[in-house]
Amino acid sequence: MRVFKFGGASVKDAEGIQNVCHVLQQTRPTPVVIVVSAMGKTTNALEVVVKNYFEKSDELQHSIQIVRDYHFEIIAKLFDDTHLVYSEVENYFFKLNQFLSQNKSPNYNYVYDQTVSFGEMISSVILCHYLNDNDFDIEWLDARSLIKTDNNYRDANVNWEASEKMISESLQKNKNYITQGFLGSDENNFTTTLGREGSDYTAAIFAYCLNAESVTIWKDVAGVLNADPRYFENTTLLEQISYREAIELAFYGASVIHPKTLQPLQRKEIPFYVKSFLNPTEKGTSISKGADLVPTLPCYIVKKNQHLISVSSKDFSFIMEEGISFIFSLLDKYKTKVHLIQNSAISFSVCIDDKFNNLSNLIEELSDKFVVAYNQNVALYTIRHFDANSLDKIEQNTILLKQTTRETLQMVVLEK
Ligand code: ADP
Ligand code: ASP
Ligand code: MG
Repeated sequence: MRVFKFGGASVKDAEGIQNVCHVLQQTRPTPVVIVVSAMGKTTNALEVVVKNYFEKSDELQHSIQIVRDYHFEIIAKLFDDTHLVYSEVENYFFKLNQFLSQNKSPNYNYVYDQTVSFGEMISSVILCHYLNDNDFDIEWLDARSLIKTDNNYRDANVNWEASEKMISESLQKNKNYITQGFLGSDENNFTTTLGREGSDYTAAIFAYCLNAESVTIWKDVAGVLNADPRYFENTTLLEQISYREAIELAFYGASVIHPKTLQPLQRKEIPFYVKSFLNPTEKGTSISKGADLVPTLPCYIVKKNQHLISVSSKDFSFIMEEGISFIFSLLDKYKTKVHLIQNSAISFSVCIDDKFNNLSNLIEELSDKFVVAYNQNVALYTIRHFDANSLDKIEQNTILLKQTTRETLQMVVLEK
């Protein structure tokens, strides 16, 4: 069994769907589990729907209509007017409207998951029909009944035991399947999501639970590059890297792989490939145990939209274990992800992500005990395997904080 994952960029329009079919025709990976994300930027568009819903905005119906029109335009290019897919997709929009009109829960994260999950439900139905109309024999699966999680909506944690049982008992080893990335369900069978960009992780979960032969994620780039092509020119394809290197790169923000993807694959040493859906027969990047970095060269990673918080004691006393423990309990309470830590005798700095919009609450509570200074919207640059010339590649923005280990140089810089 192999696992193939197609992300939003690969299915962003009708040509994309046709191209996925072409990739499968060229690579013939049967038996396969295909994991698909929502089409294009659908998840962002559904986030707008959630926002409009909570703000009781007049734009709510219009924002749903945008998502509906986008999908129906794609379907119209791929299927005859009489195809079953029209009523199936229409039914999802009916269910979305029904959910929003009947919902009583004030829990934003819960409503978010019930809403944005429609993106993957719809894309998987469309892709499944298209492939089966083109000589494939693929069964559609509802990932929500297979991947069991806790109810930490928007960032749910996988219940491995329950998921492994469901997946291994529900799938036959000689059949082909298609399912949704990003989705799971909690104990009460409410839909959960695994964190933005979480479809790569879904592919790894299925591979782990099925002891798959390999996982391939199909991207709009040649593979893992030594720098994010959106911010750096002249990038080089990394032909081969170890799980460890890939975990480090993903953790620091190389968004080509979701950071949670690597651990399950590494545990069972399942070979992992990142390839281009535009050149499916090219080798791409191969990730495996202990593989040397080939070619050996510095890797540049940028995390944007970070915040740097520096706290210092009000009375010039040292920030010791108790103070640090208090700071971390607040970071945990406000679900802030910490990407870099630095301390001196009387100050403590953290570079954080504020996915759940808790920055002002965090700062307010920290200010009770400490003097708090902060910079919003800074960028965190990480250079793995840096050398003497590495810094030249980074524009000389104001550096607020710098840290080096033997392998890695990190800098928090002010955005221009
Ligand atoms: P998906 O369609 O699966 O969601 P993503 O858009 O999340 O794919 O990931 C692919 C993108 O990741 C690329 O288009 C590129 O802009 C970005 N990226 C960031 N860092 C790297 C890197 N080191 N190598 C390749 N791509 C990278
Ligand atoms: N559709 C989800 C997102 O855009 C998950 C994914 O694409 O991986 O975040
Ligand atoms: Mg994506």
